[in-house]
Amino acid sequence: MRQSGGVRIDLHTHSSVSDGTDTPAELLAVAAAAGLDVVALTDHDTTAGWGPAELARPPGLTVVPGMELSCRWFPDDQPPISVHLLGYLFDPLAPAFLAERARLRDERLSRGERIATALADDGHPVVWEEIVERSAGGVVGRPHIARALVDGGVVGSVDEAFATLLHHRSPYYVAKADTDVRDGIRLIRAAGGVPVFAHGMARSRGRVVGDAAIVAMVETGLLGLEVDHPDHTPEERDHLRRVAADHGLLTTGSSDYHGANKRIPIGACTTAPDQYEAILAAGTGSAVLTG
Ligand code: AMP
Ligand code: FE
Ligand code: FE
Ligand code: ZN
Repeated sequence: MRQSGGVRIDLHTHSSVSDGTDTPAELLAVAAAAGLDVVALTDHDTTAGWGPAELARPPGLTVVPGMELSCRWFPDDQPPISVHLLGYLFDPLAPAFLAERARLRDERLSRGERIATALADDGHPVVWEEIVERSAGGVVGRPHIARALVDGGVVGSVDEAFATLLHHRSPYYVAKADTDVRDGIRLIRAAGGVPVFAHGMARSRGRVVGDAAIVAMVETGLLGLEVDHPDHTPEERDHLRRVAADHGLLTTGSSDYHGANKRIPIGACTTAPDQYEAILAAGTGSAVLTG
């Protein structure tokens, strides 16, 4: 079902090795069936899907090895703001970055246990050990706890769980000690990768950073902005496109597909081929899977 309009590129997806519901192999099959030519696998804080993706890649589909790093921006006058950094084509064995990813996964485990235990203490039918089992890849996130709450009949949907008990303003919410985003940018660059600021204006997810923070990230080595994202309004996309033009950044578009954990289909937003080529030219730590 290739479209005549040209190459279709989705640079942000999650499999079951983090908080998506499709295995890497299933995700690639979904991508091919949706008519994508290029898909990036960008699980949270892990490269565990890269190997399975290499084995399962359908012919004709190019897979960009990537990741979404959990980060924080530290404003002078407010608590830290959660920001996500996409990294493409980095060396998965670069030692400092490898160690930081392991720290983040440990952080997810201890924070997930605190949330689940607090819910259980108040009588909600969730069991931490079962939530860990749901996260086959060991990267536990709120979506896994949300599924447990749905299965326990506490809420009707994952969305409802995020809107209530798991909301960042819920008394059950626990923050994670995520990477300082400037360190994250440096780690990705040092590993030969391409750092792109994910869904930078998505206010529905919580507080967002201002342009001054984006400029500071650019000075640290940020190379791109994710502009076309399902959580961005047209005005937010226009604004980010202007910021990118002002600072010589590349721009991407992506679905942030999470399988059945979200309702957004793969390929819902896409990246222009020239921007994809710019990522390929800048990334030196690993290669796309193609052919
Ligand atoms: P965490 O990283 O554990 O704080 O959980 C945040 C993750 O949950 C992100 O990957 C989001 O993409 C995902 N998420 C946020 N809101 C929702 C929602 N309404 N339904 C499903 N997943 C969501
Ligand atoms: Fe996610
Ligand atoms: Fe994200
Ligand atoms: Zn994501």
